[in-house]
Amino acid sequence: MENTHVNESILSAEILEDQKKNRIDHMKYLKGMEDIGSEVLDKVVSEMEAYDYDKYNEADVRRALAHSERTPEDFRALLSPAALPLLEEIAQAAQVETRKHFGNSVYMFTPIYIANYCENYCIYCGFNCHNKINRAQLNAEEIEKEMAAIAKTGLQEILILTGESRSKSTVEYIGEACKIAQKYFKVIGLEIYPVNSDEYAYLHECGADYVTVFQETYNSDKYETLHLAGHKRIYPYRVNAQERALMGGMRGVGFGALLGLDDFRKDAFATGYHAWLLQRKYPHAEIAFSCPRLRPIINNDRINPDLTVLRIQRLACRNCIFLSAASPDHQQQPHQSDGCP
Ligand code: SF4
Repeated sequence: MENTHVNESILSAEILEDQKKNRIDHMKYLKGMEDIGSEVLDKVVSEMEAYDYDKYNEADVRRALAHSERTPEDFRALLSPAALPLLEEIAQAAQVETRKHFGNSVYMFTPIYIANYCENYCIYCGFNCHNKINRAQLNAEEIEKEMAAIAKTGLQEILILTGESRSKSTVEYIGEACKIAQKYFKVIGLEIYPVNSDEYAYLHECGADYVTVFQETYNSDKYETLHLAGHKRIYPYRVNAQERALMGGMRGVGFGALLGLDDFRKDAFATGYHAWLLQRKYPHAEIAFSCPRLRPIINNDRINPDLTVLRIQRLACRNCIFLSAASPDHQQQPHQSDGCP
């Protein structure tokens, strides 16, 4: 395997051989997966593929900065290499937009991992189903104890995470965790495996307000080589998760790419554009972004040499400017993703 982002420590010849025989079509929905027939995925992918960031110049970036409401074309310019000399101006514009919409308020979500079972095989992640690590799941009593302790600190927002194991962490189990959380917190977010819209509706009834799903990369070909088994392998089902969550009545949705798995500018554009499309289709929806990898990771120079922490911060600023009513949400840890422990 030639990809430099592969975590070689978790690969074995046996697993690779098995994958060659048993790989399923990553574009085909599995039984039970809801197909909402959304046009959003096609739009995101075609715009991402057409994005040529080298064609922009400084004048394009200055024009984008001067606009009071930025268009997707402005966003393309702001993400381009031509924007690098104007980072200070971009950061200041981001601050203005953020203050305008949020003042000085900051949401402090506390993540609580109620389980770490996972049925997926993401080759960049040590929590994948082939890795023999200790797995655990909190029962209702333990969840309540943890949540009570968190609430005692004064924090009012909670983020419930599970690994991506539908059989271990059932929708009902997650729903019960939401009901417990309702007793202690004002806002409840979820980072779990993607589910159908009726299941999101059920979780919303149980108390969940927000759903975040990390797409990892919007490049379907690259996605296929990284997510070798499990429900997560089904690319369109994952891309449409936020929309299903909004159809299920969730108040808001979060987006994130594991920048660096593929061309980080294209993935950053696709993430913002995906959110932009859903914001127009569901105007009531609250939008958030998560930035991965805020600190260097082991083997960072091999995995992703051109994506530095500074660059991620810059990308966050550009998201603030483009989707000014969205909140930058820095939850994700290195090489972890939606619902990942
Ligand atoms: S990235 Fe998430 S879904 Fe993939 S193997 Fe790791 S824990 Fe499981």
